[in-house]
Amino acid sequence: MNAVVARRFSESDLAQIRERNPVAEIAGQYVTLRRSGAKMIGPCPVCGGGAKSKSAFEVRADGLSWVCAVCSDGGDVIRLVEKIDNCSFVEACERLGGQRSADPDAVARLAEQREAKRIKREAAAERYREQERRRLKKMWDGAEPLRGTPAARYLTETRGLILPDETPGLRFLPAAAYFHGEEEDERGRMSRAVLHRGPAMIAAFIRNDGRFGGLHFTYLTDADPPRKLELSDPATGEILQAKKMRGGKLGAHILFARESLQFCANQQTDPSGCLARVLVIGEGIETVGSVYTAHRIAGRRIDDYAWWAAGDLGNLGGPHLENLAHPTAKQPNGHPKRVPGPLPDLDKPGLLIPDSVEHLTLLGDGDSDPVLTHYAMERAARRYARPGLTIRIAFARPGGDFNGMLRGGG
Ligand SMILES: [Zn+2]
Repeated sequence: MNAVVARRFSESDLAQIRERNPVAEIAGQYVTLRRSGAKMIGPCPVCGGGAKSKSAFEVRADGLSWVCAVCSDGGDVIRLVEKIDNCSFVEACERLGGQRSADPDAVARLAEQREAKRIKREAAAERYREQERRRLKKMWDGAEPLRGTPAARYLTETRGLILPDETPGLRFLPAAAYFHGEEEDERGRMSRAVLHRGPAMIAAFIRNDGRFGGLHFTYLTDADPPRKLELSDPATGEILQAKKMRGGKLGAHILFARESLQFCANQQTDPSGCLARVLVIGEGIETVGSVYTAHRIAGRRIDDYAWWAAGDLGNLGGPHLENLAHPTAKQPNGHPKRVPGPLPDLDKPGLLIPDSVEHLTLLGDGDSDPVLTHYAMERAARRYARPGLTIRIAFARPGGDFNGMLRGGG
């Protein structure tokens, strides 16, 4: 280190260093990154990424910040060089070109170029999203109606559910591809590898504007009745999720059951619009189906109920304002895990509760992390609050889920 250690970098110096050195360019000197939507992902130039080597490291859409899921670290390009070279902040700034005579024109030009690149990148990401949506829609259009398929037997026999007369939101695919990891073709291009092909229940995500947004997959075994598929990564032995979501799910829902057509007819209104007075929303299809089944068994009148699955807790609770430190869960580096907090970010869209709904019930399953679940429920209750709407949160027994309660008689 030279004698000018004490030299300070002003905020404008630091901004210039960041502008001159896009994160992807610096990281790209160590590892090969690839585009994923608006982001760049790949192995981590700091830790390699371990078992998640192909996707641990992520350069955010702004191009100015990064995060690694394995080292649980992240920040700007200066932080990246500090970690890669194991050097001080000042040294990292020097290595990135340090202080240069402030040329406002050059700074403005760089900012302009970055903005132009950002617009181009966003447009490419939007095109990619629309292509994916169309691919998934085609898959949906070609799938079999649920009734009589192994997917229906999974729900009724394995999960003990009563199915509604109509399940417009659920279908079956006899040979759905399960993608995991990547493979290289003869031209050196990377593409997603098919690890398995087999039966799957698929569910459509319906966006707030009523359009198809994406698909939820539940991969099943070939057994009769089928169970959830248990796959593991052949390289690492890591257990892989039997459920996957593709396309846009944020602010979109899966329809498990809708209000009855008889009820709609009695209202003498257009049966295509949602008229449900009661809406029940849970995280998973099985959760919502279990509470639906319990209502049917109890002989409750549910003519005017609609039943939605949000796919995951984040979508049920909607976008959050800030992350909070988890009271007990820790990251690999010993710091508290940070989880989405209870305050909604209302500038970002979430699920839209139809105008006809007077009672909203949110289902909190007990088998997810309780802190995460409670924050998500509170966030949802704040987000969906409006005059004339009562909101109730129903929690399953701690450590259990609604399906276990249904089958165990709880
Ligand atoms: Zn890392």
